[in-house]
Amino acid sequence: MTDLLLHTISTDKLSLPLYTSKDLQVSVSRLDKIHPLVSGNKWFKLRYYLEDAVNQKKKTIVTYGGAWSNHILATAAACNRSGLNAIGIIRGEEPANLSATLSQAKELGMQLIFISRDNYQHKKKPGQLTGDDYYFIPEGGYGLKGAMGAASILEHCNKETYTHFCCAAGTGTMTAGLLLGSSPPDQIVSISVLKNNIELEKCIGQFAPGSKQRLDIHHGYHFGGYAKYNAALITFMNEFYTQTNIPSDFVYTGKLFYAVNDLVQTNYFPAGSSILMIHSGGLQGNNGLKKGTLIF
Ligand SMILES: *Cc1c(COP(=O)(O)O)cnc(C)c1O
Repeated sequence: MTDLLLHTISTDKLSLPLYTSKDLQVSVSRLDKIHPLVSGNKWFKLRYYLEDAVNQKKKTIVTYGGAWSNHILATAAACNRSGLNAIGIIRGEEPANLSATLSQAKELGMQLIFISRDNYQHKKKPGQLTGDDYYFIPEGGYGLKGAMGAASILEHCNKETYTHFCCAAGTGTMTAGLLLGSSPPDQIVSISVLKNNIELEKCIGQFAPGSKQRLDIHHGYHFGGYAKYNAALITFMNEFYTQTNIPSDFVYTGKLFYAVNDLVQTNYFPAGSSILMIHSGGLQGNNGLKKGTLIF
């Protein structure tokens, strides 16, 4: 597989008339460029887990995810690269045809074990995975090691330049990382892509205690819930691409860019603010859309 291209992470400055009219500087940190499969924030969230597994001399990484999970694919690719075995515990019955994400994970050597949605919800360990060889990583890389890895995202941008860091949130691990990696008075604006995930603030606070006043979570941009979308979102993503040449994914970064634009329009950011949006990758997930939906 191609190597990780951390040196290709760029900070792209966007000069859209909307931002200029509000006297805002807006840039995007392009983590999507580091690898076609180990996209964006997932490698950052995995790095300290993998390091820990190697230190503990574990040979097999086990983690959880759904059929289109960026985390599953990133884990498969990162393990392949590090010479570790990988097992993905996948939510739901084994389908007749694997999703593009799961086929790629399998090609990278990951063993897939399908479990019922009920067992998945309780994160049941399949019976065959007992013994000392296995290193378990929580779904989505959720945990302190994941947050610490995500904190290192900010080493790839000139972080002193910004007043606001904006990112999409699933588990909130990356949001916690941005809190850990930045300092007061920087604000972290987190866009939840799940519907009514009221636990999110608690989940984030656990890993970044004492930084509540620097965190603002927005729950109004989920477009119906996780991996749900509508025509307005797709139209926005296509327009954003036309204006900036930056592709986004419909699960996370499309909702992030939409939300930030909406917040700009409604004067959420004080004039003079300097905003960094984290492009956390996830573009492979667009393979789940009907061909031709997106123009990129
Ligand atoms: C997983 C993921 C996120 C969410 O990260 P959390 O740490 O779970 O909040 C955001 N963007 C992309 C592209 C992702 O794959």
